[in-house]
Amino acid sequence: MSKLPNTSASIFSVMSQLANEHKAINLSQGFPNFPVDGRLLEITNRLLIENIHQYTPMVGLPSLLEKITTLTYKNYQRIIDSASELLITTGATQGIFTTINTLIKSGDEVIILDPSYDSYEPSVLVAGGNPVRVSLNDDYSPNFNRIEEAISHKTKMIVVNNPHNPTGKIWSEEDYQNLETILDKHSQIVLLSDEVYEYISFKHQHISVNTRPKLREKAIIASSFGKSLHVTGWKVGYLIAPKHLMKEIKKVHQFLVFSVNSISQHVISEYLNVVDFDEISKMYAKKRTLFQDALRESKFEILPSEGTYFQVVNYGEISKKNDTEFAKELITKHGVAAIPISVFYEDATDKHMLRFCFAKTDETLLAAAEKLCAI
Ligand code: PMP
Ligand code: GLN
Repeated sequence: MSKLPNTSASIFSVMSQLANEHKAINLSQGFPNFPVDGRLLEITNRLLIENIHQYTPMVGLPSLLEKITTLTYKNYQRIIDSASELLITTGATQGIFTTINTLIKSGDEVIILDPSYDSYEPSVLVAGGNPVRVSLNDDYSPNFNRIEEAISHKTKMIVVNNPHNPTGKIWSEEDYQNLETILDKHSQIVLLSDEVYEYISFKHQHISVNTRPKLREKAIIASSFGKSLHVTGWKVGYLIAPKHLMKEIKKVHQFLVFSVNSISQHVISEYLNVVDFDEISKMYAKKRTLFQDALRESKFEILPSEGTYFQVVNYGEISKKNDTEFAKELITKHGVAAIPISVFYEDATDKHMLRFCFAKTDETLLAAAEKLCAI
């Protein structure tokens, strides 16, 4: 009966649990361990006693939809119609799952770029589609020759994640132009653009599909307030898509979720009046530099992290064990938890890479780095 016979507990659950069991410093699963903004807590406290506890409209709280419309115009100069092109979701995960399960039918192919975030493939399998996994280049940039070769008349979707989990890579202007050229030739393909780390970029500004007129007409863009506001447990995100696609997505959403929890929508709506998204990249850039500098004396090779709150390192100088075993050893023997990168590949490509999450207090990062430097 299983639709996912080869799927087990996600690597994030496995590593976080192991980290807890061994009291290791948890740099595995991607979530902040620093305190939530006091202003967010103040708004929450104040609103909790108000009359905000019943269903919101199915597509989302009207004031939140308006705030997102304003934000999207401010950041990306895109004018969206909140009534027909926007949907609040229970985190980006549900937005992605709902999108795929709305638009993909049995036998359709979906291109996924490896290493890829773990929720895309199961979402395609549950929809009855066939995931077609295409490896990124060695420097984790997209390989458009390979992407084009993978396209068939059955290809209905390509999933792109930018800034990229797990590698921290950010696509260039040229990458987007290449994607536009390919999708121009294949009008049956829609783009699912996972941009949950849109506000965390260091090397150059993240280019959102919201700013690409050619792409956005065929794109569903997933955002996450969990990531952008440092409240991953709140599980609130949103989708932006052209009306004809959104109309279909809403049909499924109303029976999967109906409406997202009201309290967080009310609080986020008010919090968006005061939050400064420009500060987010600056804050994480400092953490990235602190962590990288603290690891300089270690035997780990530090790869570029252009965006997200992830740092990939190569441990080839330390061990020849496969990355999952080494990650477990890192927890049990050295007290630091990371995510092995091979789990993000269809064929478990193992280049001796680990992903560390640096969305942590400076003390946590320095304590972890001290342990890592001692190896
Ligand atoms: N996409 C990527 C690339 C992620 O890293 C995550 C994890 N937060 C998600 C989607 C899911 O986001 P959410 O927590 O809002 O469901
Ligand atoms: N997105 C988070 C990460 O990459 C994990 C989310 C989850 O546990 N599903 O670590």
